Amino acid sequence: SNNHVFLKRSTNGFYNHHEDYHDVVGGHSVGPSPKELIGNALRHRVENVDHEFCDPGEEDTFFVADLGEVYRQHLRWKLNLPRVKPFYAVKCNPDPKLLQLLAALGTGFDCASKAEIEQVLRMGIDPSRIIYAQPCKTNSYVRYVASQGVRQMTFDNTDELRKIARLFPDAELFLRIHTDDSSSLCRLSLKFGASLDLTDGLLALAHELGLNVVGVSFHVGSGASDPLAFLKAVRDAHSVFQQAATYGFHLKTLDVGGGFCADDTFEEMAGVLRAALDDYFPAHSGIHLIAEPGRFYASAAFTLACNIIARRTIEDSPMDPQGETSYMLYVNDGLYGNFSSIMFDHQHPEAKVLRAAGQTLFDSPLAEATTSRQGVDYSIWGPTCDGIDRITERIRFPMVLDVGDWLYFEDMGAYTKCSATTFNGFSNDHDVIYVCSEPGAQALLDYLH
Ligand code: PLP
Repeated sequence: SNNHVFLKRSTNGFYNHHEDYHDVVGGHSVGPSPKELIGNALRHRVENVDHEFCDPGEEDTFFVADLGEVYRQHLRWKLNLPRVKPFYAVKCNPDPKLLQLLAALGTGFDCASKAEIEQVLRMGIDPSRIIYAQPCKTNSYVRYVASQGVRQMTFDNTDELRKIARLFPDAELFLRIHTDDSSSLCRLSLKFGASLDLTDGLLALAHELGLNVVGVSFHVGSGASDPLAFLKAVRDAHSVFQQAATYGFHLKTLDVGGGFCADDTFEEMAGVLRAALDDYFPAHSGIHLIAEPGRFYASAAFTLACNIIARRTIEDSPMDPQGETSYMLYVNDGLYGNFSSIMFDHQHPEAKVLRAAGQTLFDSPLAEATTSRQGVDYSIWGPTCDGIDRITERIRFPMVLDVGDWLYFEDMGAYTKCSATTFNGFSNDHDVIYVCSEPGAQALLDYLH
């Protein structure tokens, strides 16, 4: 039934799967699966690009974002951490439709700069739903948030406390503590977090300056893999709550930060955290629990498609012991672009074949890398002049790929587009085609328009 798929863009920029595509199962009409919906959007876009005739930019790399995936992640969060209110970390992916959906779902927002705070306030979000979770803030930004009524912010050192005392003495302060982030992809504790031997002095100074400490925050590192890091951090936070009480601060909120992965490690991680919270901050304590997840919400929702713009044939390839031909593929996105996640976020995006020799292969066995002896070896490179700009050192596909063919990469929603540069004059503002595989999320988005 896939043969008849076509997608029209509706007025709000979404492809509407209800009107345009139906599958009939046992007399009931059901929409396509998330995979089909993403595949249809990818296919529709690339089928209209003819690299022999198109204008510059028409073959540009682009994303397909499935906001239904964000919605499902939110349900997964609610199921596993029902007591913890997420404040989405905008830095991870500030896509406006992603933020709109999360706003409609009732999350708060963790912002790191004036621009992020402005973006969220412009959506009509109440300032109480924002935490300025940057322990070392720009003076003028502190004055800005004071003028906007964004009161919640973090600190972890004495200089910052004196800054806040001068610029925004009524701020609601979270003392960010140091964590063991050694199991994470992106370590943050080298740069932020007060160690437990410093918290007493910080609380004493806050008290002396007449400041308003309302909570404790921590971050176990982005892409964390050791659930015990959460247990230890919750235990440490609990001791800081007790320390604060000795200075007359009755802390009301614990912020457990980000670090949650979207893969199936989440349930275990959340299970350990949930148990630790129930032990140290039980429901009857009345303490509010919040978190700052970024990657968890954004990563799987975005798929990236890239065009092969050039190819170099390597005869007698040293990669292949049989001396067979291999190829270097050059695509129109790389480490200075949306694959910035390879450098900054320690990711290993996996190439799959979207379209080869005029055939769409999305989600077919042929799209995947192969280990079979018949395969062809490739390395995949970005478009800039820098030799570091390599996406994949070695991959084997079952077919010969050439200029004009398309590759796609899943799980490209976290720390990708937001850290892309325009190095060598390549755009970092690529189209996002939105689909929505969850009718509940679609209804919310339609309601917002
Ligand atoms: N909160 C803070 C203060 C951060 O620095 C980060 C990421 O660097 C996040 C939240 C989001 O982390 P993650 O995407 O791992 O959930």
